[in-house]
Amino acid sequence: MTIAEDSPEERWAKELSRRVELGENIEFSAALLARQLGESDVVHLEAFLTKIVGRGSAIGFTAFICPVASCRRTLPNGVDPVACPYCKTNFVEDDAKAIPEKYFRLTTVISRDIRWMVVIHGMNSRAPWQETFSWEIANQLKYSAPVLIYKYGWATVEVLLAPVHRRMARKLGERFRTAIEAARSMGRPDRPDVVAHSFGTRLFSLVLEDPDFADLKFGRVITAGSIIRPDFDWDRHLAEKRVEAVMNHVAAKDGSVPLAQWCIPGSGPGGKVGYASRAVINVRNDAFGHSSFFRPENLGGMIRKNGLWHSFLTRPLGPFRPEGCFVKEGSWKPPSLWLVAVPRILGFLVFVGVGIFSWLRRFVDP
Ligand SMILES: [Zn+2]
Repeated sequence: MTIAEDSPEERWAKELSRRVELGENIEFSAALLARQLGESDVVHLEAFLTKIVGRGSAIGFTAFICPVASCRRTLPNGVDPVACPYCKTNFVEDDAKAIPEKYFRLTTVISRDIRWMVVIHGMNSRAPWQETFSWEIANQLKYSAPVLIYKYGWATVEVLLAPVHRRMARKLGERFRTAIEAARSMGRPDRPDVVAHSFGTRLFSLVLEDPDFADLKFGRVITAGSIIRPDFDWDRHLAEKRVEAVMNHVAAKDGSVPLAQWCIPGSGPGGKVGYASRAVINVRNDAFGHSSFFRPENLGGMIRKNGLWHSFLTRPLGPFRPEGCFVKEGSWKPPSLWLVAVPRILGFLVFVGVGIFSWLRRFVDP
């Protein structure tokens, strides 16, 4: 397999991101940058710089250039330059005029690499999408971003019992810790990006809240079909830098998420109504149902370049306002214990039945 060469824009984005990180040479005109990079296509470079201004990674401003042909240096910031400090030309005496030129100043990195990723699926997901996911990630993303698909076995009646959630979350936390230590020892960044779906979102939220795992830090987090409570304190985890950013992908036609709070203790309809935290990016897809996220035709589109997930994982987030973006309105309260008792007892009975069935099935269809 051959590795595709970087396009000019990708090369420029890498170089400019490097400059931002070093804080060096972050101001230039398109012509000056072209000279520094040894590029001849100034027009393309200028269009690229204008694009990154639109994405919030740079600002444009007007600088003045010394008009003396042998000098042509950029004058120090000043609205009305009267002299060049380099060649000492006095513009008033010499009847010369400083030449205005469009300049750019870099403010944030232009693109972010996806480091490595942990995917925590929902209950009893079957394998095909996991293969698709690994395959698409490896193909669509040029970075070699390893994907760890966390498996927690076949959950049935367990989801009805809060202590079991905590036990499962502890296992997940331990797995995170092992993976983070391995990443560190290989010289990779130690914050994985996270994609969690359905019951996996509940487990991830418990890891964040467990003081025993307070040392674990995460990159950008996508929750899909989330059953995390809408009032979950994302603000605190963002402020404490436990997570870098959160995108909540909501499926408008999700029929499962609204039921979660009636059956699964501690859960809520975050994946239907959104999270209240203003720092989280809630995005609604009007066509999706609870399991649409991992269908190959949808997944491919989302993790492809400029797809929603890819953009969230790689772009500067200041100006990131994707289509379907919304702010959660109104308040949400968990249902009272009296109201949830009946569905939980019923759920328990159903699950015991299903549990026996699936236990038997594993012998028939392992
Ligand atoms: Zn000069």
